[in-house]
Amino acid sequence: MQCPRDGIDLIEEHLHGIEVDHCPTCNGRWLDHHELDELEATKASDEERRGMVQYAQRESELKCPVCGEVMLAFNYRAYDLELDTCEQEHGFWLDAGEAGEVRDVVDERVRGLERAASAEESWGKFLDNLGSGGGGGMWSGLRGFFGGRRR
Ligand SMILES: [Zn+2]
Ligand SMILES: [Zn+2]
Repeated sequence: MQCPRDGIDLIEEHLHGIEVDHCPTCNGRWLDHHELDELEATKASDEERRGMVQYAQRESELKCPVCGEVMLAFNYRAYDLELDTCEQEHGFWLDAGEAGEVRDVVDERVRGLERAASAEESWGKFLDNLGSGGGGGMWSGLRGFFGGRRR
């Protein structure tokens, strides 16, 4: 397989235990379609990955090294990180540095979700404590609102 940027033969390498094809000239990397999922899976569970979306698709200046079709450039999982992908699902092209950035982005996303989950949990406990005083009114209304979202 050849680099879509400069046509140099790609070299197989292992990145976090996942096989990728690496260009020795521009340091770009080609991942098979499922390999990007595996790269993510090293960090995020299925549930955490759900809801991450790709958007801002447009035509890339690069061609798929597998089929030669013009690829699509898209912003990865709602972050400002641009990747190129083949519409035939042959794989993804990551320019130099982006493989590391994908993991950073996933790390950050997972941390954000953990923070959100624990914040909601402690807020719910706070309201439970207040409610046990026998209050009512606003607090029971709020508890009803949050209670509907818990478990
Ligand atoms: Zn290259
Ligand atoms: Zn292709």
